Amino acid sequence: MPQPEHTTRTVLVTGGSRGIGRAITERFVAAGHRVAATHRSGDVPAGALPVRCEITDPEQVEAAFATVEAELGPVEVLVANAGITRDTLLLRMSEQDFADVVETNLTASFRLAKRASKAMMRARFGRMVFLSSVVGQLGSAGQVNYAASKSGLVGLARSITRELGSRGITANVVAPGFIDTDMTARLSEQQVADYQARIPAGRLGAVEDVAATVEFLAGDGAGYVSGAIIPVDGGLGMGH
Ligand code: NDP
Repeated sequence: MPQPEHTTRTVLVTGGSRGIGRAITERFVAAGHRVAATHRSGDVPAGALPVRCEITDPEQVEAAFATVEAELGPVEVLVANAGITRDTLLLRMSEQDFADVVETNLTASFRLAKRASKAMMRARFGRMVFLSSVVGQLGSAGQVNYAASKSGLVGLARSITRELGSRGITANVVAPGFIDTDMTARLSEQQVADYQARIPAGRLGAVEDVAATVEFLAGDGAGYVSGAIIPVDGGLGMGH
């Protein structure tokens, strides 16, 4: 079997069962890395270690890391991908809608990053990639909770960069635009058409578009990229 031309890493992807996380997992597996992917329901791509984990539960996150460490070694690349929406207008948004989205998208990312940072500091190497969204910078009517959680990831990644940058650890944010997945499948045809008209690329993004960028950030060539927001949005968010 031909040897990969890059360093192989131990990678943990959250939400590897569907959508963007599944594509990221497949890409890292295909590149020859040791990959673990979390899931709650469903399966994870062939070649990845399936790890059951509800990321809002600190004990399950701890257990997931322990499993990955035992099976594949310390996590060198963390992809905090799992996320949810609970869209509604501000006046109708409940405390629970807000709290649930912040807990899953932001607080759990903090939890994962904190746990991953221990071994990364020891190894003096680490790559953290947080899946944000174009709406984290643009804002979005009906997504006060989601946009707040996604822009929060920028402060999180940039603070990690300042704290841990000198230890060979990078922390970056990937900000997808409109990507064709289950999360966007619930939009009406009219909403999809409206979005598409605003995207300079003239098409919705594919999960592979996002996965390729995440792979770059984890790769040998991206060691000097940190605290960045990398848009993968066909130009939708330009200027932000
Ligand atoms: P999907 O809804 O298709 O998949 C979400 C994944 O997250 C699933 O694997 C799901 O697991 C997992 N997940 C959700 N909540 C939890 C939880 N509490 N604990 C563990 N796992 C959980 O989403 P996408 O693939 O579309 O999105 C992936 C990321 O990209 C998200 O952070 C999203 O906000 C972001 N993003 C997506 C965009 C898009 O257009 N699709 C645009 C911009 C950003 P399960 O299958 O068990 O539910």
